[in-house]
Amino acid sequence: PETPESFVTDEIDETLRRVFGYDTFRDGQRDIVEHVVSGGDALVLMPTGGGKSLCYQIPALVRKGTGIVISPLIALMQDQVDALRAAGVRAGFLNSTQDLDERRIVEAQFVQGELDLLYLAPERLRLPATVELLDRGDVALFAIDEAHCVSQWGHDFRPDYLMLSGLHERWPDVPRIALTATATEATRAEIASRLDLERARHFVASFDRPNIQYRIEPKTDAKRQLLRLLQTEHPGDAGIVYCLSRNSVEKHAQFLTENGIEAVPYHAGLDAETRAANQSRFLREDGLVVVATIAFGMGIDKPDVRFVAHLDLPKSVEGYYQETGRAGRDGLPSTAWLAYGLQDVVNLRKMIDSGEGDAAFRRRQSTHLDAMLALCETPGCRRVQLLNYFGQDAEPCGNCDTCITPPETWDATVPAQKVLSTVVRLDRERRQKFGAGHIIDILLGKKNAKIIQFDHDALKTFGIGTELRDVEWRGVVRQLLAQGLIAVESNYGALVLTDASAEVLRGDRRVMMRREPERPTAKAAKTAK
Ligand code: ADP
Ligand code: ZN
Repeated sequence: PETPESFVTDEIDETLRRVFGYDTFRDGQRDIVEHVVSGGDALVLMPTGGGKSLCYQIPALVRKGTGIVISPLIALMQDQVDALRAAGVRAGFLNSTQDLDERRIVEAQFVQGELDLLYLAPERLRLPATVELLDRGDVALFAIDEAHCVSQWGHDFRPDYLMLSGLHERWPDVPRIALTATATEATRAEIASRLDLERARHFVASFDRPNIQYRIEPKTDAKRQLLRLLQTEHPGDAGIVYCLSRNSVEKHAQFLTENGIEAVPYHAGLDAETRAANQSRFLREDGLVVVATIAFGMGIDKPDVRFVAHLDLPKSVEGYYQETGRAGRDGLPSTAWLAYGLQDVVNLRKMIDSGEGDAAFRRRQSTHLDAMLALCETPGCRRVQLLNYFGQDAEPCGNCDTCITPPETWDATVPAQKVLSTVVRLDRERRQKFGAGHIIDILLGKKNAKIIQFDHDALKTFGIGTELRDVEWRGVVRQLLAQGLIAVESNYGALVLTDASAEVLRGDRRVMMRREPERPTAKAAKTAK
């Protein structure tokens, strides 16, 4: 592809102003638009809120024919198309929510060249009729949105995306632009290879979101912690609270409401009407809080979300980044806050082990979780850790909890040995495995029913851990998990040794841990900006 002629550049600028009402492109957008307008293929990595849509919408308007947008976000197509139409763009969509008549109308418009943009659900490409339809019209480009869905090992795989590898063979002259906000080296390589975009130009935008303050704290009393955050730092602000289960969503939405904070639930178990109503209230009203499962948010474009709170540990750093990325799209200071505890780790491990997929798939999910844990337990800057994960260098940011209140580290070798040797003894003597709570009870010398039942008060390690409190032991176990020095076994959440455990037990390896940080106060967090 060549550089566009100057009259084309003018047309691009004119479209930006006239249709979208913006005077200037954001970082990176112009290069991408010009490249695609001139017929080049592109792989675009840009964070959520970075402005990916314009990168294919403007080329679709400037080039002859219709831009075909493949998107998994069927629920949002109507909204996207409505917004485009309101701006005078001739847009339509085809998905399973329409009846035959509605589809016929859109198809006819496409064939007659009356559409600038046509949104397609990926599964429609499986139908020979769709392929024939595309042959009958004039295609300006293919935009593959949420392109990470093609990654079988990623966190959001959609089998239908695999078919997109065939686009290039079938329509070799039509430029393709794949876009995603998920961007490890590995995912990027996989997207490029599966979509045959290895020779395409890759545009990688910075993933830093400097206005988001990242904070991760140990979960002690999740409800109270959340309430304190909202009341002291975000009164009257719009925000999203993510929970792992529907049940927990309902519980927390009710809890907030009872405490004078306007909150609505959102999860896949609610009927479509309630979901739509709650979503549109969130978009329209000021200062509403949505308590939701991760079903909420894909494609949500609300600029003034002031906080994203996680009450449960996300399954991957990609997920965490995407979800927290919904905060502060307007560039103003915003908070990404996460509370996590030992039980989260145990639950997620169980979900992985009992979930679907083969051994390799589960191993991959386990690696995702390990990276997330490492982010939680890092004594260094959260942002550095996050950006490094996405292959980007960074300096300590001064705007995350660990920068504001650097955690002390301490030599936890002896406590680590106490935990591990208890696990060894239980394993050896009883051929039976136990969870973290029981092991901590042994260390603390508690004579409860379970301990008596198994004669665990006779163990050599019984009562040898009184130097730490229960919560502190939980912290030790959590950090041992994050460092891979101990593992959680599938079925009962039992603790088991890893290969690295032996080094610690032999005294060949020192274990340094972060001291559980004091919670940064609202004041400390604000003055640090
Ligand atoms: P993404 O798909 O990358 O998450 P969007 O395309 O939805 O991001 O854009 C995010 C927001 O930024 C939208 O509200 C969009 O209108 C706005 N935006 C995009 N490009 C520009 C620009 N050049 N100038 C101002 N606002 C922009
Ligand atoms: Zn930092």
